[in-house]
Amino acid sequence: MSFPISKRIANLQQSDIRQMTRHCERVGGINLGQGLGDLPTPALVREAAINAIVAGHNTYTPSEGIAPLRQAIAEKLLRDNVLSVDPEQQIVVSSGTTGAFAATLTALLNPGDGVLLFEPYYGYHLNTIRLSALEPQFLTLTAPQFMLDETALRAAVRPNTRAIIICTPSNPSGKMFDHNELLIIDRVAREYKLLVISDEIYEYISYDGRRHISPASVGELAKRTVSIMGFSKTFSITGWRLGYAVAEKSLAKAINLVHDLLYICAPSALQYGVAAGLAAPPEYFQGLRDAYQRKRDILCTGLAEAGLAPLIPQGAYYVLANIDKLDFSNAKQAALFLLEKTGVACIPGSAFYQGSEGERLLRFCFAKEDAVLQEAVRRLQKWRG
Ligand code: PLP
Repeated sequence: MSFPISKRIANLQQSDIRQMTRHCERVGGINLGQGLGDLPTPALVREAAINAIVAGHNTYTPSEGIAPLRQAIAEKLLRDNVLSVDPEQQIVVSSGTTGAFAATLTALLNPGDGVLLFEPYYGYHLNTIRLSALEPQFLTLTAPQFMLDETALRAAVRPNTRAIIICTPSNPSGKMFDHNELLIIDRVAREYKLLVISDEIYEYISYDGRRHISPASVGELAKRTVSIMGFSKTFSITGWRLGYAVAEKSLAKAINLVHDLLYICAPSALQYGVAAGLAAPPEYFQGLRDAYQRKRDILCTGLAEAGLAPLIPQGAYYVLANIDKLDFSNAKQAALFLLEKTGVACIPGSAFYQGSEGERLLRFCFAKEDAVLQEAVRRLQKWRG
């Protein structure tokens, strides 16, 4: 006897990212599809987590996270994000940025509410919106600059729109929203009374001296913004499942309520690890930027030489390559062809768009060891023959 599955997940499909990973494993290829980030985890972070386990910090913590971590986050927010928040009432430590995002949607929006996403988007944002019975709405930001236009933003707001999602630096485009664009969001969000949910998981990965601007630090956005940040990328601990949401008191309280129901708390001992990590010296964060900038340059130079025109990212660790001038019928065909010919896996741009814009793009991840990237670049030169 088979039971029907929930209507809420009936339209959800396994992401192209996981599918390409499976294809890549089948041919034993180099996987530049998935963003795992395999830089070493800083010793400071590892040791503080191990010490916490040994010291017996192995039981549930408060659902909003341990006090020393919330204190360390508040200090970090002041230092790096120009945000002054109360660690007791405005921070919820969560099970990954993903957990913070899901809890935020459930806590602050109602079924049927519209949520505006900028294309290209991060697939988990779209699918979590669907899973939460919300209506995804889209505004395409046009390559290669992905600039936000105020008139277009106003036109995209519908009568039921209640929230805008910003991802800065963006996965997959690497776009970082500048001050003027955030002022546009401030004006439009104020006028239409929209919640702003800002995913800043790549805040420490930016290039060419460009600095991340937290949306909540601009204009009056702090009042209506949930800033969602994480540790997966900053300390290369994607498997630890730790992130946090920062918001006004009443919003944080609601997010915490849902987070408690879904996850009880974030992993106990690991919270001590990242609390220590936030006190890492500035050189650590600079070193992270330098390492990823070197990797970006290896891959972008290689892609350009291979005729896969890279749209140079400002931040995060992905690059979109334009395949407009090449003879492929769509992005999936291009990605599968490249994998067969060169053994290098990437993600079809269609995974990040509703419309046809994504068919001209491929996404490559450069969070890999330099030697792996160099080998991928060497293989990619050969795809034409
Ligand atoms: N947000 C974005 C934009 C991402 O690219 C990713 C991972 O690739 C995540 C969130 C996942 O974050 P976490 O590991 O904190 O759940």
